[in-house]
Amino acid sequence: MSPQWIVIGVLIALVYFIFIKNKPLSNQGSSKKDEKLNDDDMVECKKCGTYITLNEAKLSEGQYFCSDECLNA
Ligand SMILES: [Zn+2]
Repeated sequence: MSPQWIVIGVLIALVYFIFIKNKPLSNQGSSKKDEKLNDDDMVECKKCGTYITLNEAKLSEGQYFCSDECLNA
């Protein structure tokens, strides 16, 4: 086997792995808008309208609430 074939083989493997790595992980419905939220992002309380960070927010049935009072109200 000539060295050129080894180089070409390595290049093909490299390109292959780069494509695999860059492939989006979202296999479930690309048409659906899927926003990724961070813990620091602000969300609005569904009940009182207060803005709280996602870290503090209480999530219930897809809605965010600032506190247990709003969640249970
Ligand atoms: Zn609230």
